[in-house]
Amino acid sequence: MTSVAGLPAKPRIRLGTFPTPLQPAPRLSAVAGVEIWLKRDDLTGFGLGGNKVRGLEFLLADAQRRGCDHLVTGGGPGSNWAMLAALAARTLGMDTVLVCYGTPVPPVGNMALASMIDAEIRFTGDPDRASVDVVVERVADELRAAGRMPYPLGRGGANPVGALGYLAASVEMAAQLTDLGLAPTALWLPTGSCGTQAGLVAGAHWLRCGYEVVGVTVSRPVAECVNRIATLAAAAAEDIGVPGPCNEPVVVDGHIGPGYGKRSADGDAAAQLVARTEGLFLDPIFGAKAMAGLLAAIRRGAVVGPVVFLVTGGAPTLFTTP
Ligand SMILES: *Cc1c(COP(=O)(O)O)cnc(C)c1O
Repeated sequence: MTSVAGLPAKPRIRLGTFPTPLQPAPRLSAVAGVEIWLKRDDLTGFGLGGNKVRGLEFLLADAQRRGCDHLVTGGGPGSNWAMLAALAARTLGMDTVLVCYGTPVPPVGNMALASMIDAEIRFTGDPDRASVDVVVERVADELRAAGRMPYPLGRGGANPVGALGYLAASVEMAAQLTDLGLAPTALWLPTGSCGTQAGLVAGAHWLRCGYEVVGVTVSRPVAECVNRIATLAAAAAEDIGVPGPCNEPVVVDGHIGPGYGKRSADGDAAAQLVARTEGLFLDPIFGAKAMAGLLAAIRRGAVVGPVVFLVTGGAPTLFTTP
């Protein structure tokens, strides 16, 4: 690839520091037996960094353009998304209501950070994660009835506007790969709400990047991820007026461990290896499990290098995941 297409102009605010580094991981590669590169989106430079910063640049621009004064979103009590969304909204002078599933828990980690910036936190009282979506809509209705202008957002900000974040990241990384003369076979990442993988899938197809985008699910069943990614990627591509991807998204199962938000044995082992070889701490809920998936695929002989691993952040949960 000699030149990189630009993303059509979309309303965007600046939150992060881009481009994030694309670094070799020589010691990890030597142990794994495959050349691995790290795309450091833990270093997006807003809050404590992480992948959600990219989507928020487009989502909050959209909220501002619509004249909204309240962000309403949510997730689990430890959600990286919820904290970063509230933080971004606060810097723009918007209030936030965060809806958490379950019953009240002591504010540690991301929830303590959200409290520090005075986000209002409400619990659904229902352990079902999908209860968040229902209450987000209800809170938005309450705010409208009170004469406010809410901007409701689903968990993870996984909608076509949010997916623009990783379309833009695809453009950014394509330029880095060109500069490095690097042609990876695959880009691996953890997949939760699916917005990140959707943006990357749409971006790789649009830019003819030549690498496969491989998500390791950390929460949802594979079939649900595949559907969500395909739908979101098609919508994101349509939004910028380019052809949508045709292949079925690739999602790897088998590394959720005891459940979403909980540590897994193979994830912890993978995180330990990465910390000891590269001096990088992968979060236990997303990054560790995705790296476990990549290392297992390498051991099966299913990976030809070089590959890029997307480091998605999640630093606050390093200290709060038992
Ligand atoms: C949200 C999140 C992910 C997953 O991204 P999705 O777009 O929700 O699939 C991965 N890693 C971290 C640290 C996250 O906070």
